[in-house]
Amino acid sequence: MKLAGTTVSRASLHNADYLKTKDIRVGDMVVVEKAGEIIPYVVRSEPGARTGHEKVFEFPKTCPLCGSPVERDKNGVFFRCTGGKKCSGQIKNILRAYARRNAMDIEGLGVKIIDQLVDSGMVNSIPDLYRLTLEQLLDMERMGEKSAQNLLEGLNASKERGLSRLLTGLAIQHVGDGVADLLAKEFGDIDSLMAASAERLGQINGIGPILAESIHDYFHSSAGTKTIEDLRDLGLKLTEDRPTSSQKSGVDFTGKSIVVTGSLKKYGRDEIEALIRKLGGKASGSVSKNTAFLVAGEKAGSKLDKAQTLGVQVISEDEFERMVTGKV
Ligand SMILES: [Zn+2]
Repeated sequence: MKLAGTTVSRASLHNADYLKTKDIRVGDMVVVEKAGEIIPYVVRSEPGARTGHEKVFEFPKTCPLCGSPVERDKNGVFFRCTGGKKCSGQIKNILRAYARRNAMDIEGLGVKIIDQLVDSGMVNSIPDLYRLTLEQLLDMERMGEKSAQNLLEGLNASKERGLSRLLTGLAIQHVGDGVADLLAKEFGDIDSLMAASAERLGQINGIGPILAESIHDYFHSSAGTKTIEDLRDLGLKLTEDRPTSSQKSGVDFTGKSIVVTGSLKKYGRDEIEALIRKLGGKASGSVSKNTAFLVAGEKAGSKLDKAQTLGVQVISEDEFERMVTGKV
């Protein structure tokens, strides 16, 4: 179907409530619009065009993957499988988050391999990844010796990523790489972090009570403690190297709030923000008079305007690069 210049093959139907209030049924002829000229969505059905064969859509009561009951989330919008670790779909999501570049960055562990590993029953958890053998991998379909070796090397290399990256990879609810970094810096090793009370966690600047609770719950759940103990036995590094003054450039952003905007040539956004945090700074999302400086890439917009209005120092990506590498 052609719509506003592009071919539309599917359109979003939002959620269960939307289907109900709009009385949209399977088989209906519908009116489709593009939200902001980009995302197509279904506006309404055409009841006059019905043949009588249309069916009211029933959301599944059990998970199509594992058969566990499905539950609506707190806001009643999304349906979720309650199967946890029994559910192959959930295990796959956990492993994908773990292997991501800003997490454990595991070379050779892409989506297809993860699907194969989980579907074949070889891997049911993060620690299982590190128990894979070359023989097992070679038994997999479409897996050559070179890819198998690569994957094992990738897994082995990931053992040394350290606490911050591991915490990002565990995908504890509400814990992204910024929070992971805060925690790794504050505690330095997993044992101190696991021993911290929710109150203690909540005292860290940047961690609110809900987040503190979520972190505390994870490390006191049987699944969380088991994962950590297994990873420890498998030889993963569970500490974070503290930045030392002898670090290559000697640059120290401690106490500095730095904003990055526009498109960068060399760094990914996650990457440059991680670097800022690694050097002690805070990667902030908005410019204020407390901003130490703004790194402006190409097509920088409102943040650049604001920095100029407030008289905040603006540097280019190249200047930032020279600053952190110490090459002037
Ligand atoms: Zn499921």
